[in-house]
Amino acid sequence: MRQLSEADRDAIRLAQDPKFARWLDQVRATGGCAHPIHLSGSTTTWDPATGEVLRHYDTRDEPGERLLIRCRNRRASVCPPCSRLHAGDTFHLVRAGLIGGKNVPPTVRNRPRLFITLTAPSFGPVHRAGDRCRPRRDGGTCEHGRPLGCGAVHEETAPLVGQPLCPDCYDYVAHVLWHAHAGKLWDRFTRGVRRHLATSVGLPQSRFPNHARLSFARVAEYQKRAAVHVHAVVRLDGPAGPADEPPPWGTADRLTGAVHASAQRVLVHTPYSPAVGQLALRWGTQLDVRPLQNDGTGPDDDAVAAYIAKYVTKGASETGAGTDHSVLICTDIDTARVNSHVRALMRACWRLGGLPEYAPLRLRAWAHTLGYRGHILTKSRAYSATYAALRADRAEQHGHDDPPGTAADARWRYTGFGHTYGAALIAAGVAQDLADSRQVDMENRRDDARVGAGLGAEG
Ligand SMILES: [Zn+2]
Ligand SMILES: [Zn+2]
Ligand SMILES: [Zn+2]
Repeated sequence: MRQLSEADRDAIRLAQDPKFARWLDQVRATGGCAHPIHLSGSTTTWDPATGEVLRHYDTRDEPGERLLIRCRNRRASVCPPCSRLHAGDTFHLVRAGLIGGKNVPPTVRNRPRLFITLTAPSFGPVHRAGDRCRPRRDGGTCEHGRPLGCGAVHEETAPLVGQPLCPDCYDYVAHVLWHAHAGKLWDRFTRGVRRHLATSVGLPQSRFPNHARLSFARVAEYQKRAAVHVHAVVRLDGPAGPADEPPPWGTADRLTGAVHASAQRVLVHTPYSPAVGQLALRWGTQLDVRPLQNDGTGPDDDAVAAYIAKYVTKGASETGAGTDHSVLICTDIDTARVNSHVRALMRACWRLGGLPEYAPLRLRAWAHTLGYRGHILTKSRAYSATYAALRADRAEQHGHDDPPGTAADARWRYTGFGHTYGAALIAAGVAQDLADSRQVDMENRRDDARVGAGLGAEG
């Protein structure tokens, strides 16, 4: 026994427990979650008419007198099985908005649908992978004495890729303020699309909702230079949403035109600051718009859904942009495991976050995401189902829901989370088995998809 690791000894002790089989069932029910939440308590279900108790469940009879439930973390770096589940849900949510399902009618497939990518503008030249980085015939140096060009050829994975040629020339202030306004840029963009659609057919803007409805699902992706890209599916329906046909003028061509016009014209001003002045923020000039056809030409619907789902499971530790947890004190930034470019962005957030004029942007609270606030995936209400609806679906399939017409009394208490070393080992094995047996070919779809992946770093 002495040769065994602490985890192995712990696993053996667990396996010898008389309630091991039941414990393993619980671990399987969480999909092998790496950090399950422990609950203790009970539920009682009865028939209100007769008062007869139909079902009683109490954790007192469970191993350790507790029930394990999923942590539901979306990040693969935190909990691989829960992040896989989350990616699957995201895939189905995005897919339902493209081809129907999950209470969305299949007719959405015939609607004008676009897959678009909006980029951040340049905040200063950065090293690029691929061909020669930034060749310059005349050489030359910036005011800080650093070369203006770079003749090297960098590998995709080279640490230098995405780093500025001169950190002192790079506009860190504009970069984090752009992130802090990305949500507003997107709102203005979607409003602009509606406005351009309306005016292109001579409708007053205010009448647009009576004729058509714009739905979308979007994800944020951090590029190598740690600036956010936005990938989105945009769909045009009739005024009532997914079940409603758009008007005859609502074509993919017209929608494409409105997307281009709006992306070019959106302008957001930062609040005036005595230290910074006022910045005018726009989208980058790189814009990718691909109509999704239902005739097999162009990007495949599943590929688009898989491509979007891929981003929601990425934690900061994988993208290298920021950290998984928020920064509490300034010195956290000094010790964060990030490259110097990202550290400079986090410092800019901290510095600007101390200015009263930027207080509403909450830059210190969002220093770990480099000033970008909000969710990785955002959907408009009419796009498709919700995560909550998918979870309710799953609970029903597993028979967790009580039949209609019954009353229930539930008393639950949080008692802790996580696994012991040995339990973690067993849970990881369960998660691996489930992953292996699941015939989801998302991985393959992603690889041959590569849609929208052609956009490189700007600037
Ligand atoms: Zn989990
Ligand atoms: Zn270079
Ligand atoms: Zn410089």
